[in-house]
Amino acid sequence: VAPVNHHEFQGFGGINFNAHVVKKDFPILRETVNGKPLIWFDNAATTQKPQSVIDRIAYFYEHENSNIHRAAHELAARASDAYEAAREKVKVFLNAKSVNEIVFVRGATEGINLVAQSWGDQNLVAGDEIVVSNLEHHANIVPWKRLADKKGLKLRVIPVDDSGQILLDEYAKLLNSKTKLVAFTQVSNALGTVTPAKQMVEMAHAVGAKVLLDGAQSVSHMKVDVQYLNADWLVFSGHKLFGPTGIGALYGKEDLLNETQPYQSGGNMIQDVTFEEIKYHKAPNRFEAGTGNIADAIGLGAAIDYVSKIGIEVIGQYEHYLLEYATNLLKQIPGVRLIGTAAHKASVLSFNLQGFTNDEVGQALNKEGVAVRTGHHCAQPILRRMGVETCVRPSLAFYNTTQDVDVFIETLWKLKSGKK
Ligand code: PLP
Repeated sequence: VAPVNHHEFQGFGGINFNAHVVKKDFPILRETVNGKPLIWFDNAATTQKPQSVIDRIAYFYEHENSNIHRAAHELAARASDAYEAAREKVKVFLNAKSVNEIVFVRGATEGINLVAQSWGDQNLVAGDEIVVSNLEHHANIVPWKRLADKKGLKLRVIPVDDSGQILLDEYAKLLNSKTKLVAFTQVSNALGTVTPAKQMVEMAHAVGAKVLLDGAQSVSHMKVDVQYLNADWLVFSGHKLFGPTGIGALYGKEDLLNETQPYQSGGNMIQDVTFEEIKYHKAPNRFEAGTGNIADAIGLGAAIDYVSKIGIEVIGQYEHYLLEYATNLLKQIPGVRLIGTAAHKASVLSFNLQGFTNDEVGQALNKEGVAVRTGHHCAQPILRRMGVETCVRPSLAFYNTTQDVDVFIETLWKLKSGKK
């Protein structure tokens, strides 16, 4: 790992990346909070938007705004083309085989609910088993628990070790011929753990189970290749990928999507309607009932362009460097307990500081302009597994710098020395 350098990151293999330069692309990062420059360390909750994304959405409303697919006029063609071009960008970003495998949804939560309420409701019967991991965000627990309660399914949980990594031996023991679905996250939002996703998908497929991968926290930090991972579905949210809120994508294998009953119904998703019979479109339109979030889908396309221009691998390497830098400094503060210490982690630094409530730590950081999340991070089971109810969770992105980390660390030292 490169030596600490406040102006530039000279990474592996001659990669040049300057966080100070990319930071300028994000207008909100010029805000001040309590008279201090904003330091955005709440990236796991949502990310900030580059000017190019903001401009692209404004351009849509200034030059292209129309409903899609249904009119003969020019603006309908512009809007439809831009919307479908965004779908193509998601396809390339995830390395899906076809645009027919990309369904626009509100975000990861809606993607998971879609699969639970369409495929799950259609295919699962009493006695079937669903496996989730102890690491899951509530969005990947509650839809499955509700389905299990409704249909008499058994929900089983993959345990983790004390570092917060999946116990693969225990996972293997949970899999059997009754396992119909395994749903797990590629990166934990609470601990940052990167799970061995490809291996876990293979293990599930070996017993004939389908796999849903939660990519909400992975797509912004690492290359996610759906053909390589081979999961049956993958979900993510645009707002965690430097894109707008209210838009995300569900990837699903094409045949599987076409065999699955619709989620919501109405306009757009039908081929033909009579009062006697309804014929549905194939995917993806089958799952896009009504007028979707056209402008933000196009904004998500612009976010993917932005990230792809820098290169997701470069982003991952820089963030790894920043995470190591921050972790080493955080560990030196007496009374800090890191929550989540897996060997393979993405940029989350959850911790408690002995002698202070999480709120006190959050407030002290906010005074210095540093935005962190405190609480249970919608992942109560994993925090309880780690022996806490809540924690402080700084989470990093590529526009954060070592100087930002230094402000964060200095504030914690000051807080400690102020309380005798
Ligand atoms: N899954 C994980 C791992 C998450 O971190 C989140 C959000 O924090 C979600 C799912 C839900 O995402 P959204 O609220 O954007 O639907």
